[in-house]
Amino acid sequence: MLKIGSHVSFRKDMQLLGSLEEALSYGSTTFMFYTGAPQNTNRIPLNKELTEKAKNKMIESGIDINDIIIHAPYIINLANSDENKYNFSISFLKQECKRCEELGVNKLVLHPGSHVGLGEEVGLNNIINALNEILPTTKTTILLETMAGKGTELGVSLDQIKTIIDGVNYKNIGICLDTCHLSDAGYDMSKFDDFLDSLNNLGLLDLVGCIHVNDSKNPMGAHKDRHENIGFGYIGFDNLIKIIYNDKLRNISKILETPYVEEFPPYKYEIEMIRNKEFDEGLKNKIKKN
Ligand code: FE
Ligand code: FE
Ligand code: ZN
Repeated sequence: MLKIGSHVSFRKDMQLLGSLEEALSYGSTTFMFYTGAPQNTNRIPLNKELTEKAKNKMIESGIDINDIIIHAPYIINLANSDENKYNFSISFLKQECKRCEELGVNKLVLHPGSHVGLGEEVGLNNIINALNEILPTTKTTILLETMAGKGTELGVSLDQIKTIIDGVNYKNIGICLDTCHLSDAGYDMSKFDDFLDSLNNLGLLDLVGCIHVNDSKNPMGAHKDRHENIGFGYIGFDNLIKIIYNDKLRNISKILETPYVEEFPPYKYEIEMIRNKEFDEGLKNKIKKN
């Protein structure tokens, strides 16, 4: 079964049950969400009853909770040496891991961090030290997302990801590939099998726990991080289809983080198009009309 879904919301009133229902309305077999606003620290208490209802509904609808992904808020920056910011990031990420456990979700995607001018080496060391403090306190697996290289982001090259993984002393660590970010970072998504070979040569292929499937508004190497709808950007439909259906990544959740078309979520239509394996040039108009 193709494990495909999208980013969905996590609302106060319905929580995990609402996220699941939104995902099902798009025809998804998996999904990803933030447990609160990604840019602030306000977190509502989790409602056990809603979590239980969601878990039962997942069983009914054939969704495996092990395929579901939570995204850590992007205010967390483990690369910063500033003591207050560093300690805040560690304690907030520990809390997020606890929320994952309460929800029964075991994969948490994290942006590795930005070195904010301190340099690559200092930043990577901060990330490693922080992860070595967080990982032994949780059962959650933290998936480091590959980044586009905007500003002073780290985790842009596979070498940087490898450096972090090598420095971490615990097993609950993995990788999330983001196709838009990889292309922005300079990896050619039209030669994805070669890319997987390089991942494998670094011993990283088995650590892939999630794939963010996005097209890119910018050409390869642009370091811009602007997602585009599937087939409408520089990566292109055929290349993305080959990635989604790649045999080596068969059991991995594929998550769409493509932009809304005006105020409308595109995911139902994009998932349908991906299942049909045929590009629909009129997709954006179709989304607006419905
Ligand atoms: Fe992300
Ligand atoms: Fe992403
Ligand atoms: Zn992005």
